[in-house]
Amino acid sequence: MARLALGVDFGGTKVLASVVDVDTGKVMGTGKKKTDSTDGPEELMQRIFDVARKAAGKAGTEMGDITGVCVGIAGQVDVERGILVGTANLSRSVVDLPMAKLLKDELGIPAIIRNDVQIAAAGEFRFGAGKDIDDFVVVFVGTGIGGGIVRNGEIVAGSAGNAGELGHTTVQVGGRVCGCGAHGHLEAYASRTGMTRAMLGELRRGRKSVLSEMMPDLDPADPAVAPFKSGMIREALKLKDEMVREVIDEGGTYLGYGLANVVNFLNPTRIILGGGVIESVDAYFEAAETSTRKQALAHAGQAVQIERAGLGDFSGVIGAAVLAADAATS
Ligand SMILES: [Zn+2]
Repeated sequence: MARLALGVDFGGTKVLASVVDVDTGKVMGTGKKKTDSTDGPEELMQRIFDVARKAAGKAGTEMGDITGVCVGIAGQVDVERGILVGTANLSRSVVDLPMAKLLKDELGIPAIIRNDVQIAAAGEFRFGAGKDIDDFVVVFVGTGIGGGIVRNGEIVAGSAGNAGELGHTTVQVGGRVCGCGAHGHLEAYASRTGMTRAMLGELRRGRKSVLSEMMPDLDPADPAVAPFKSGMIREALKLKDEMVREVIDEGGTYLGYGLANVVNFLNPTRIILGGGVIESVDAYFEAAETSTRKQALAHAGQAVQIERAGLGDFSGVIGAAVLAADAATS
């Protein structure tokens, strides 16, 4: 019989849950919902319970036949105690939430929690672009930027569970304010959120762009504008939009600065890049690769392999399921 586990990936725009056959990596059933940054702790947990049950239903299985659940979430996670300490980009009212216990109480199966990029690293390691090596870094670009490190075949969690938080490393002294409150962090420049802010700034200055035609109701001065979708950015580039091209080149270049730091500091064999903007916007990926190789030490910068993630949107849920099964059987 297939060994099934439940993986949940709680990101900046959506929460995805899948029941996964952890021996083959096959996704058996999936549930998906939008996330809402105004969620309190109850709403946030309810969103997870809903997608978890939906995934089990789609997979045609009962919760009791699932070995365990792991939720990966974009935030600071206390892995040992199963507590979500806080999140910079999701709900700010959620602090010290005992997620693992709440999951176990509600779903009745063993539960663990991890950082969202660590689950993606686990997925890529077991079944994706890292399955042939045991030494790589994954970086996911979305509303924020997260990184995960695999070293000697193990995911490096760090003493507080935050290893790989590349988005919150500094690339500009005294630079833009980041979602976490500090200045000049990478994700304030190279994430979809950061690049959207830069594009809105250009629109406010009166720059012409097809974005104004694509979104006739857009108010560039509204601080609550949601990060632009990768598909729309790709569309604007196809229409040769100069302003969008500049911002994407700049964002990709900043990402390369961050990655060059990773290359010089860890000297990994491979960097695996994922997330919507990486997958669908070639100019961004290319700018990041070029500036990584230019900024890094010559030999390491030329030697490092830079590839796109192999599991697309499912890196996180597959990795989470693998970790849940490993934890439940160890
Ligand atoms: Zn930050």
